[in-house]
Amino acid sequence: QPDRRPHTGADPRAVLKEVFGYDAFRGDQDDIVQHVIAGGDAVVLMPTGGGKSITYQVPALVRPGTGLVISPLIALMHDQVDALVANGVRAAYLNSTQSAPERAEIEQAYLAGELDLIYVAPERLSSAATTRLLQQGQLSVIAIDEAHCVSQWGHDFRPDYLALGDLAERFPGVPRMALTATATRETHAELTERLRLPDARHFVASFDRPNIQYRIEPKVDPRRQLVQFVRSAGEGVCGIVYALSRKSVEQTAEYLRTQGIDALPYHAGLDASIRARNQERFLREDGVVMVATIAFGMGIDKPDVRFVAHIDLPKSVEGYYQETGRAGRDGEPAVAWMAYGLGDVVQQRRLIDQSPGDRSYQQRMGQHLDAMLALCETVACRRQNLLGYFGQSSDPCGNCDTCLTPADTWDGLVPAQKLLSTIIRLKRERNQAFGAGHLVDILRGASTERIRQQGHDKLSTYGLGSDLSDQDWRSVIRQLLARGIIVAQGDYGVLAVGDEGAAVLRGESAVPLRRDVLGRGGGAARVRK
Ligand code: ADP
Ligand code: ZN
Repeated sequence: QPDRRPHTGADPRAVLKEVFGYDAFRGDQDDIVQHVIAGGDAVVLMPTGGGKSITYQVPALVRPGTGLVISPLIALMHDQVDALVANGVRAAYLNSTQSAPERAEIEQAYLAGELDLIYVAPERLSSAATTRLLQQGQLSVIAIDEAHCVSQWGHDFRPDYLALGDLAERFPGVPRMALTATATRETHAELTERLRLPDARHFVASFDRPNIQYRIEPKVDPRRQLVQFVRSAGEGVCGIVYALSRKSVEQTAEYLRTQGIDALPYHAGLDASIRARNQERFLREDGVVMVATIAFGMGIDKPDVRFVAHIDLPKSVEGYYQETGRAGRDGEPAVAWMAYGLGDVVQQRRLIDQSPGDRSYQQRMGQHLDAMLALCETVACRRQNLLGYFGQSSDPCGNCDTCLTPADTWDGLVPAQKLLSTIIRLKRERNQAFGAGHLVDILRGASTERIRQQGHDKLSTYGLGSDLSDQDWRSVIRQLLARGIIVAQGDYGVLAVGDEGAAVLRGESAVPLRRDVLGRGGGAARVRK
């Protein structure tokens, strides 16, 4: 087939300059581009705003053929293609919103070798017709965007991604790239396996966003706290406030307006024209605060968002990281602020319990929530906790609330020892292991069916922890988990002694726990021993 594309074989740096207007590659971009142009597969982990698009767009232009981009969000595809076309790149997308003649025109252009890039939704690729069409032309590279969506245990699983595992067989010899801005160690391994990229080179950028200051506080009077925070961010700055429900979005926006803040609502239930108008104002004007559900922000490249506020607890650390990552993309100081309360936790536990997934799915969702709460409850640096979650170690940052104002703590050594000895006794004496719920029942001296059946009321630690409430114990357990004093194992999350547990048992390690956590007013406030 003829290749009528002007950049084939060109110098990547020249393409970067000519097409995208940038003088130099940033970070790993250069290495990634070289590697893929040479025909190698790549797994790219780079935070939002890191510049992932360039890493597949440049190879797509330079290698002979058309670059195939698999992207899950049709709305995003449209914007990305428009931006490319504005730069003179011949890009197009195929999706279900198009008419048959529109699609036919794009297919013809592809087959004639006239397209630089073609964007396709994952579900399209399951169709044999699309595969056949793409096989009749020439592909230069295959980029799988939002690759974490293939992970069944991640926070954003999409079943259509599972079918992307055989792309190597369908398009032999075409280099493949998997890209994501959110991957824990486990998700990273899982996407490499499921997308069958055993020989790929891995490019893992630092996930740190040093200009973002992290602040998390318990809800006392959430509306007033939010207004106070927004005012403290400064006059005329842009920010995003995330809420979970549409109703809460509308009420919050309205309340902020009564307080003289230029707030606009954004959620999927609003009229498309209102959504477009609000988004337009947010992008173009100063001082607009967008109150939105998490549907807002994906693909919105506004560099000077000065804050992201969460007034409801996100479902996972991945989600929190992604959403807060929309602040400060210009590198200037920005704040990620959140208020969380017991109500959030109760509501989310209920949603998990009522979710249609099987037991192990619910277990994973529970672990996502626990990791999120561990971030809220840490007495250590927030950034250390956050980066640690993504497998990256770091020193205390000096730019988060716990670094700037050390948290008020109480000594959790004794409760930690009670829990550890319960776990150890059950293991040694009866070869048993249990999850948090049952262990708390034992410690609080609950009289449940299971306790009586198992004879756990005969254990020497039975009832030893009745000075703490159920909520307090759960908070203690989350904080111990976050510090590796205990670990959760298997699909059922049974608790075992972690690496840091021995020193605690010997009383050699202090266990400071946050005072201002959710059980506030309950046991934690009383236990001062
Ligand atoms: P990601 O997809 O990783 O979130 P993008 O590809 O959208 O990031 O890039 C983020 C921003 O950085 C965009 O505004 C993009 O134009 C800009 N950018 C990317 N690479 C470069 C570069 N080499 N030089 C300057 N700006 C860049
Ligand atoms: Zn810090």
